[in-house]
Amino acid sequence: MDAPAAPWFDPALDPVRDLESRVAALMAEMTLEEKVGQTHQVANIDLAADTDTLRAGGIGSSLYASGATAGNIRDEGVLAGVIDEIQEQAVGGSRLGIPVLFGRDVIHGHRTVVPIPLGLAASFDPDLVRDCAEAAAREAAVDGIAWTFAPMMDISEEPRWGRVAESFGEAPVLAGRMAAAAVAGFQGDDPSSPDRLGACAKHFVGYGLSAGGRDYDTVSVGENTLRNLHLRPFRDAVDAGVLSVMASFNDVDGTPMHAHRRLLRDVLKDEWGFDGVVVADWNGIGQIVSQGVATDNREAARLAIVAGVDLDMVSGAYRDHLADLVRSGEVAEELVDDACRRVLRMKFRLGLFDGSATPERRPTGNEPTPESRTLARRAAHAAHVLVRNEGVLPLDSDGTVLLTGAFVEEGDALLGTWVLDGRGDDVVTPAAALSEALGDRLTVDQGRFADETLKLTRTADTTVVLLGEHPGRSGEANSVVDLGLPPGQLDGLRALAGLGKPLVAVVYTGRPLDLTAVLDLADAVLVVWHPGVEAGPALAEVLTGANPPVGRLPMTFPLSTGHIPTSTHQRPTGRLIRADVDHQEGRYVDALTHPRLPFGHGLTYSSVSYDAPMLSAPGVAADGSVTVSVRVTNTGHRDCGEVVQLYFRDPVARVTRPLVELLDWRRVELGAGASEDVTFEVSGAAFVYFGPDHVARLDAGEIVLMTGPDAAHLQSVSLSVTGTDPTWAGTP
Ligand code: BGC
Repeated sequence: MDAPAAPWFDPALDPVRDLESRVAALMAEMTLEEKVGQTHQVANIDLAADTDTLRAGGIGSSLYASGATAGNIRDEGVLAGVIDEIQEQAVGGSRLGIPVLFGRDVIHGHRTVVPIPLGLAASFDPDLVRDCAEAAAREAAVDGIAWTFAPMMDISEEPRWGRVAESFGEAPVLAGRMAAAAVAGFQGDDPSSPDRLGACAKHFVGYGLSAGGRDYDTVSVGENTLRNLHLRPFRDAVDAGVLSVMASFNDVDGTPMHAHRRLLRDVLKDEWGFDGVVVADWNGIGQIVSQGVATDNREAARLAIVAGVDLDMVSGAYRDHLADLVRSGEVAEELVDDACRRVLRMKFRLGLFDGSATPERRPTGNEPTPESRTLARRAAHAAHVLVRNEGVLPLDSDGTVLLTGAFVEEGDALLGTWVLDGRGDDVVTPAAALSEALGDRLTVDQGRFADETLKLTRTADTTVVLLGEHPGRSGEANSVVDLGLPPGQLDGLRALAGLGKPLVAVVYTGRPLDLTAVLDLADAVLVVWHPGVEAGPALAEVLTGANPPVGRLPMTFPLSTGHIPTSTHQRPTGRLIRADVDHQEGRYVDALTHPRLPFGHGLTYSSVSYDAPMLSAPGVAADGSVTVSVRVTNTGHRDCGEVVQLYFRDPVARVTRPLVELLDWRRVELGAGASEDVTFEVSGAAFVYFGPDHVARLDAGEIVLMTGPDAAHLQSVSLSVTGTDPTWAGTP
């Protein structure tokens, strides 16, 4: 069946240049019911049951394509085949021929799974994130998918919350740059290219502050903290052209985000000028009822459309009630028009009206290839963070090694959370990769700390023990009360450590764990997150020194679970005015307070010294810039990659400001003995913040700039911001 001959399908029209006129031409033909259809997203489309609805234009979008009819959806070509059949009905069989928008959670790779986003964040390498997103987009496009619900950019300061695994960590500037890079990778310059996807900035906003780290819980936060920290990565994603934003499950100060007109409509849409789609999270509109803010789905639909939610993910509230709400005068038709316009705009932008997702145009073949594995290995390697090394790594080139612990030969467990299309069989396991690298110098023990393990440990020169949590313990709806290792692992490690032989601990995890005891017991500790299909080879490269570690922690690791929150964004109290948190009043009487591993921490196989930072000028004007430079020297005997970090503190502002905040970083390669002057261009506008009235401002006065290898080892220099108007008109 062909698309109807209609002006919005005219091949001479351009998806970008003629966008609004194409949308307007189409909308002029649409009935209210058809417009509502565009605001309705279903989980699956089952052609046996849904063909009439599709032909009537009643389904705008689908979330998992069609599990209901597809048999094994993961078999090659099955998903694409189902999508094509559905699209044929939607485009060829309906009055107006509007294609369905197929989304899917393509979170960290599609078929070729790369590290969880928190692991990607440890690379501090936005180019890597862009490349991974680009590769995932191509693989997903093969299956007929046009839209991914990624990247997630919730500021993650709470390690008990399982979803930190899906995030880019706790620093807004890191999360923002990674998010913008992911958007660039998924969408490219032209999202209508058949090998690109629409991206989705999620979850808007404050989800990372859920009470107690319990998923979906309530959030009490003021607009000031939202603007100065949590909204910033979303702003970066919007500036990068993200086509959609997902509302978050939480409330903010009592108002469910799906009903939060101030943040969704006033800030995101009106103030920031976002003209894309605001999509609900799973049944997020229905949940306004369970949140006790609407009596039924009808009222929830009214609240959500007024607040600015354009596309209803699976609750059915819009489908069931929007038309009636318009007819009764309770909802202005213009609100439904606006929501429909945004969904159609996205479909045009993705080229769906121009056949971008048709079998003839889309790419083919998405099994992992040598090329996709090379990228996955680069990403897995970059996620390895060395947090302790008492001279045992890299491994001796002729010593014997025992590999033991959890995950030795596991595939699925190393893929991480939120993997819909990747396969455990594709994982090169640590045992396989280390056997390849070490040959008969390696003994693999599956005993998991049994007596046999102890015997083997006695005979090996070095024991590499794999520890950590299964991905089923992190991710959505997987919060924990205890950041310690899963039961049994620490006892096993203690027994091995008791033998006094060199011990390397490798920690697979979706979150910062309490590693205090592990760091005491093991001679070397690597935090490797859940690294994806190239888990084994990346580990082998790091352990042997073929490719030394470069990763840095994108979240603070606390001394214990009870120390949370420990992020870098602590603000001064009346009794806490400096960052040496251990020695201030009002801290804990039964423990020190400093983090166990600070944000940004990560060792190399060499050592790097930092000189004090220097400024090109003592002051900077609001519209000017200054250069801060720091000399770093590789004082060791091996080449290394260093992540040189720049932080700042605003000592006097109209609101309390973080004691330490990441401002910028550079990744540099340093040959043994080499020095490099690393320079950062810092603009006066970098110190804009939101004051008590939520208005962006920039004050004259001192800013402390700090450089170093992580957030806890910094040297400072004072910069003066001069001659500013405290009300800032520019983009913060
Ligand atoms: C999650 C979203 C996800 C959606 C669709 C929800 O439960 O919060 O992040 O995109 O499901 O699968």
